[in-house]
Order: sequence, then structure tokens, then C-alpha cells
Amino acid sequence: MPNEGFVITSPDITEVIRCRACGGSDLIPYLDLGEQALANAFLTKEDLLRDEFKAPLGVQWCPECGLSQLTHVVSPERLYSTYLYASGANPAWAAHQQALVDAVTALRPEKQFVVEIASNDGTLLERFQAAGHGVLGVEPAKNLVDCSTVPTVHRFWSPAVAEGIVQFHELADVVVAQNVFGHVDDTRSFLQAVARILADEGVCLIECPHILALLDQNAVDTIYHEHLSYWGLRSLLYAVAGTGLSVTHVEAFPDLHGGTMRYYLQLGDRPMSRAAQNLLEREENVYRLGVGPYLNFGRRARDIIRRFREWVTDIPDEQRVVGYGASAKGNVLLQAADVNLDYLVDDSPLKAGRYSPGLHIPVVETFQSPLPDVCVLLAWNWAEELKTQATAKGFRGRFLLPLPEPHYE
Ligand SMILES: [Zn+2]
Repeated sequence: MPNEGFVITSPDITEVIRCRACGGSDLIPYLDLGEQALANAFLTKEDLLRDEFKAPLGVQWCPECGLSQLTHVVSPERLYSTYLYASGANPAWAAHQQALVDAVTALRPEKQFVVEIASNDGTLLERFQAAGHGVLGVEPAKNLVDCSTVPTVHRFWSPAVAEGIVQFHELADVVVAQNVFGHVDDTRSFLQAVARILADEGVCLIECPHILALLDQNAVDTIYHEHLSYWGLRSLLYAVAGTGLSVTHVEAFPDLHGGTMRYYLQLGDRPMSRAAQNLLEREENVYRLGVGPYLNFGRRARDIIRRFREWVTDIPDEQRVVGYGASAKGNVLLQAADVNLDYLVDDSPLKAGRYSPGLHIPVVETFQSPLPDVCVLLAWNWAEELKTQATAKGFRGRFLLPLPEPHYE
């Protein structure tokens, strides 16, 4: 169950009235992206005949701890029962995962018991296994559990699941949570479950996009229904308080998902590293400015969405415009801007043959003939890689990037 800071507006939608990190109630909205279909809910042909689920998409800021969080929460059952994002599909992401495995193995060469929360299709744990470690995944999406080759518990992460793992396995030396903590409503239970499963000298690595990178890069398209919170260290410290965990270190990955932070958590009362102190200081400098930077971000985001729409509508009618990468990010932006495209190219077999949420743009595996004139790079944070891919598939036209500012390449 979520914490007490919610109002149920439908069986699937609750309005957030309390901060999930600190309990504060004076939340200030700063961006409203309207009613949107779920960014990862690609539709089958049959789904098109049914009413599509939509929910308000907006963000608000907590003046107490500085956490940004959505104004409404969609039930996890609706969000995650089938989830089409397979994390192994992207080479840059694969390299990031391998680097993580190598770093852990260099620090802890003896066999570690690694538990991954939201293990997706198991690609990270396969790498840990290949490096000689024991692994266990926890993943709520059945379709991903079914295609995973590593032992996986088919559940949402919770204290009960942690307890079960401790009973039947052992305490975890390493817990990894990549791009899931921002999805969590009841962060206290999540962290308490981590504290329950960690060995005394165990370490939990939580990776999520950093709020200041989101502001700096105008990354409005990282705001979608799965992403309930946009964390920084300052707000994370509020969430961690009283769970038995300390944040000991941070590591920044500026090029990953538009700016990812890795937080190191350990049991007990431990000091923060110099890197963590520096990050906190940088965040305090922004926090002192109050909601201003967030309201400014909201204004810039609305402006970019408007201009993106203008850029696409300015393309002459006889030119074909398609999207590259059927991503959640793209679906947020396309819906916010109400921009329709001929089709979206995505070589994920999970998505091809389906339709994008909201606008129902068909997803195809490769370019159709005749080739398009303009290709919108919706996964703009992987721009270089996607340009190479699109060119290899024969595309010779112009690339339109929506963010951080609409431009052609
Ligand atoms: Zn707060």
C-alpha cells in the first residue's frame, strides 16, 4: 500500500497530497502535461478497439525536502503487468551494466550474492553470474520473468519478499536497483526491505536520473507515469532516515539517460564520502532558490513542446516524417505536443507490430519504402548511436532532435 499521502480518484489513480520522502504536504505543482496514455503501454490491434486508459501527468515540488514527484500515481498493477522495455536491447546500456559488474568484481573478487530489484529480463544478473557471483532477480512483469535465464522471483519488491529471500537463501552482499527507485510509491517499505536483506558489509546501489540533470537538460520527456519521483541526494536522505541505512557515496554518469546518479547505501550510521558531500552542497545551492528553478523548467518545457510541434507541422506535407525509437520518452513528448508521425521504427520484437500509446502510431521494425525525408530521434539521449543505426538501415534524410532544444542534425 502507498503511504497516507494520497486521495483515491479512481481504482487505478491516486492523487498525491503528501511528499513520499519527508511527509510534507505543501506540494507545489510546476508542470502539467495533461491526460496521457501510459508511455510504455504499446497497443495491439485488438487493443485499439477498446477504451485506452489515461491519467493526469503533472509534477510537483516539496518545499521541505526538495523532492519532485508526480501529482498522480497509477496503480502498479496497471503499469507493470506487462512491460515491454527489455533493458538488454541497447549497446550503451549493456556497456554500463558490464562496467558495473567489473567494478563490483574488482572491489569484491570473492563470490558475492547479488540481488537485483526489478531485474527486467535478467541481462545484468547474467553478467554477474558470468563473473562468478551468485544471483537472484526480483521482477514483477511476467513477460520479462519468462524470458529471463537467471533465477527470478516474480514479485514486486517488498519487505515480505526480502524476508522470504533471507529465509530461503542468505543475506545479500550486493543489492542493485537500476532505474526502479523513482518508480516506487512506498519508498520507506522499499528501503526497509533493502535493510532487511543486506549483509553487515553489504552495499545497495540505487541508480536513477538526477533531478538537476533533468532541469539542466530540459528533459521533460523523462516525466511519465512510471517515474513517480525525481530524486536528488537531499531528498533521498529524508527518505533513508529511520530505515537503518546510510548513504555513503555517490557516482555520477552524466551521459546515461540524460544524467544518472548511483547512490551507495549501507547498513548503520556511516559517514558520507567527499563526492556525496560535494553533490549535497551543489543541491543545497539550488534548493536555496526555492521553487523558482522548477517553475522556470516548467515554462521551458511548455515552450519546447510548443516549438517541437511547430517544427514538425512546418515540414511540407509531401515529405514523410517518421520517428526512430519507440520509446516511453518519445510517447510522452508526442502526446504532450500532439504530434502524429507516419510510423515509428524500433527493432525490438516486443514492440514491432504494435501501436504507440495515445496517438496510435504504428511501430515497424525498419524503414518502409519510399524512405522518409525526416526522422525524429525520439530517444535523443542515444542520438549518435541511433543515427548510425538509421543510416545503416538506408535512411538518408534529416534528423530532427526534439531536446534539449528542437534542432536538425
Ligand atoms: Zn518532501
